[in-house]
Amino acid sequence: MKKIKEILIGTNNKGKLREIRALLPKSLKTYSTSEFNLKSPLENGKTFEQNSIIKAKYFSKKTGLVCLADDSGLEIDILNKAPGIFSARWGGKNSNFNLAIKKVFKKLQKKDSKWKNKKIKARFVCALAINYLDKNIVCVRGKVEGFISPEPRGKNGFGYDPIFIPMNKKLTYGEISSREKFKIDHRYKAFKKLKNFF
Ligand code: IMP
Repeated sequence: MKKIKEILIGTNNKGKLREIRALLPKSLKTYSTSEFNLKSPLENGKTFEQNSIIKAKYFSKKTGLVCLADDSGLEIDILNKAPGIFSARWGGKNSNFNLAIKKVFKKLQKKDSKWKNKKIKARFVCALAINYLDKNIVCVRGKVEGFISPEPRGKNGFGYDPIFIPMNKKLTYGEISSREKFKIDHRYKAFKKLKNFF
């Protein structure tokens, strides 16, 4: 397999950019979408995989570089896997995740008024795609199972981190340091499946 020497990280999310950079080998030359002033494409896929490929293809075609893009989100079982691929969109135009978390709690309350006393099963999912122009080179998935915390806890991380407790742990992703989280999360698990490409 030909090793990739330079790559565009296809995300406009600063939290993800930081995390993906930390996962890639230091010898790899990386570019960010902000260096090219690129907006994000419309994510009209039906799965995490489809959306990751839409992004990788779009950013690769805009720059002529090999592109790595991710699509990720939180699935909550009793909400029929919502917010799922709509995780970012629940934060609204300004990516307000206090709002998104409120929405999660409201929906859980509606579904089961005693939800706070129960274990609400959820998982973070991440699809990672590498594209060179129209050609998808690889697409993999990583996931972490866990539960929804009855209240937001911790100020670290981004998105839904304050309400996700990984299985067999006590702290939310918002309470552990980013360095710790990077070593166990869904993006890391997907990444491990790509390591032969770098
Ligand atoms: P997208 O992949 O850019 O469409 O957005 C994924 C959305 O899922 C993010 O905006 C976050 O709200 C959420 N998400 C994905 N990964 C994480 C994570 O590691 N922690 C918290 N939220 C996440």
